[in-house]
Amino acid sequence: MIEEDRNFTAELAVIGTGLAGFAASIFALKRDIKTAQIGNTGAVAYTTGYLDLLGSLSPDYPSSIEDPWQGIEQLKDSHPGHPLCRIPKTDIFTAFEQFTSFLGECGITYTPPEKSNIRVLTPAGTLKPTLCVPSTMKVGSTAFSQKEPCVIIDFKGLKGFSSRQVVANLKDKWPKLSSRRVEFPDMASGEIYPEVMARSLEVPATREKLAKILVEAAEDAKIIGLPAILGMHTPDLVREKMEQLTGLQIFEIPTMPPSVPGIRLREMFEQLLPQKGVILIPQQKVDKLVFIEDGAQLSLSDSFGPITIHSKSVILATGRFLSGGLEASIDGVSEPLLNLPVTQPASRRKWYREKYTDYRGHSVNSAGIEVDSSFRPLDSRGQPYSKNLFAAGVILAHQDWIRGRCGAGVAIATAYKAVEEVEKLLT
Ligand SMILES: Cc1cc2nc3c(=O)[nH]c(=O)nc-3n(C[C@H](O)[C@H](O)[C@H](O)COP(=O)(O)OP(=O)(O)OC[C@H]3O[C@@H](n4cnc5c(N)ncnc54)[C@H](O)[C@@H]3O)c2cc1C
Repeated sequence: MIEEDRNFTAELAVIGTGLAGFAASIFALKRDIKTAQIGNTGAVAYTTGYLDLLGSLSPDYPSSIEDPWQGIEQLKDSHPGHPLCRIPKTDIFTAFEQFTSFLGECGITYTPPEKSNIRVLTPAGTLKPTLCVPSTMKVGSTAFSQKEPCVIIDFKGLKGFSSRQVVANLKDKWPKLSSRRVEFPDMASGEIYPEVMARSLEVPATREKLAKILVEAAEDAKIIGLPAILGMHTPDLVREKMEQLTGLQIFEIPTMPPSVPGIRLREMFEQLLPQKGVILIPQQKVDKLVFIEDGAQLSLSDSFGPITIHSKSVILATGRFLSGGLEASIDGVSEPLLNLPVTQPASRRKWYREKYTDYRGHSVNSAGIEVDSSFRPLDSRGQPYSKNLFAAGVILAHQDWIRGRCGAGVAIATAYKAVEEVEKLLT
């Protein structure tokens, strides 16, 4: 086959297809910025679907916090370099509003940001604070707070989600909670997977069969909790249909990664962003990024040959270790695309504490790149690497999103800020 060069031009190139990269493309669309986005598979398919802003002030306050906005004020004292402390709270709120309303317009409704966190169920049946949840999961939170009779269902052959475990962890706080194991329609033998179950529930006949099973399992309860399997592309509709068929209120609980709510988001972005005008090159990595006088040139290739993108600005949203935005080696942590300096512990011996579950977290999880007040990455002299380069997401230093429960918060808020700065550059 003859390989053909493909060239694209854009005002903004977003590198990365995680939450930060997708959020950046959404904010750029809202500002009519012509955008190209490139990225490989990353952490988005692993997320629970919950959008956390700030859930803990670890290490100072390891327990959950109710008010993330007040939490950001406290963070300014304890971690002034944290990316969330560098963005006005009104902008963070707007960023969450714009992001969740875009998701709703595209068919995956989320609750809007509020003044406080809500407590939601984890796959293990523990509780965690978060800011915005898919509406398919909202009822679980309300049912818990009102302690209504509820049955958690799991399925024969489904690994990684146990209704008995959920109930065992919650029973003392939610006495009218019980568990049942049932067979998923037409999947009675062998191992079954949430992704396959979700896709099969897009089919009306499967919904009808499952509805009969659920009605029987519910007995006297009026509320049912399921692992997150209510459809891949139209979860709101699938839930509504299942509620009509059963006459029960139904909610989802996230499963272990890779989870359906994360895959839903990725597939929805990949399908809809190109329809809205974004030049999206999924499942690929940028091999080379060079800055030229009026912007940048990005090079990559796919199975049809080389691709070149000329862009006036770039947002680097390549994540941390899991997604390849940072690399760890015997010599330390590095940033592989531009070799940007990475703030990190002084030696490898200081990367981890002895106990994995230490509530203070591990220093290596706060490693990342430095940015100026406009979210431009800094070079080894402490100067912006290029006036055309910005960064967003968990590649940024001074935040441990795992302990701080602030993954989506860092991704969405910094993407908003970076796009705002891109717009200033372009005008
Ligand atoms: C198991 C798990 C559970 C989570 N649960 C939650 C949760 O409940 N709530 C919450 O708020 N957050 C959660 N998160 C965190 C959330 O997913 C991350 O905070 C968020 O994904 C970070 O977004 P990001 O875009 O900065 O990075 P990532 O999602 O890591 O994305 C980085 C992207 O950059 C791409 N990339 C890297 N190098 C290149 C290159 N050279 N060229 C092109 N692309 C490149 C990667 O392929 C990837 O697409 C969870 C994460 C994990 C792993």
